[in-house]
Amino acid sequence: MPTPIGNLGDVTLRALEALKEADVVACEDTRRTAKLLRHYGIATPLVRLDQYTMGRAEWVLADYEVVAYASDAGTPGISDPGAELVRWAYAQGAEVEVLPGPTAFVPALVASGLPTARFVFEGFLPPAGKARKKRLEALAGEERTVVLYEAPHRLQTTLRDLIALYGKDHPVAVARELSKRHEEVWRGRLGETVGRFAEPRGEFVLVLGPRQAIPAEPDAEALLARLRAEGLSGRALAEALEAAGVARNRARQLAYKEDA
Ligand code: SAM
Repeated sequence: MPTPIGNLGDVTLRALEALKEADVVACEDTRRTAKLLRHYGIATPLVRLDQYTMGRAEWVLADYEVVAYASDAGTPGISDPGAELVRWAYAQGAEVEVLPGPTAFVPALVASGLPTARFVFEGFLPPAGKARKKRLEALAGEERTVVLYEAPHRLQTTLRDLIALYGKDHPVAVARELSKRHEEVWRGRLGETVGRFAEPRGEFVLVLGPRQAIPAEPDAEALLARLRAEGLSGRALAEALEAAGVARNRARQLAYKEDA
């Protein structure tokens, strides 16, 4: 059951209906989900089912036929224990219905202004050790936009690791407290983030531009000189300039300028 990532207004009519009709609402945090249910006048009983109790799901849910599951926020199964519950439910031969709804990475990705056609959702990086190193290395050459979740107390470490990986000039967006009072989507370069988020508070999504998303504009004049020195002229020169990333019109202008 997708639930709001902040603003209680971000819940779908179908989610409310399902919460109302279930025999029980299993949830990561009963206090948090109780607040949502109270807000909408829903009286369905709650039971706790989080990462620590998930192993006892069979016992926790034994008395119920229709169970709605709500994680802390957003869509269960996205960086939370929901995925384990889905696997368990299938193993029991239960029917699983997943409703579309809020999740933090989609608004963060879209608001980043970075390319959305191809992206990779990495969730939380492993906190330390070889596993973290391996994941970071795998991201080094990533040609898609990269989306990460991060906790505030780990943000600085992760930003520093990302600077080491991609360099200070790499484009990034930091989405904070989405749909809440202090919502912010900051866009800039990785090198600026450490100072900008020196005392991080709230919930964060990091969106990194793809490795080659914004191809560096080639130094057209330098390229022109080099290609001329190699003996290229006219159409061959225009084509070579274009192949190197110079816009077609500009490539033609440069190639024929001194030829004329
Ligand atoms: N299931 C959730 C979803 O669908 O997005 C994610 C759960 S995960 C345990 C929590 C992380 O999601 C936070 O640490 C943060 O990275 C991100 N997140 C959740 N709510 C957010 C918000 N309102 N603004 C920014 N990031 C948020």
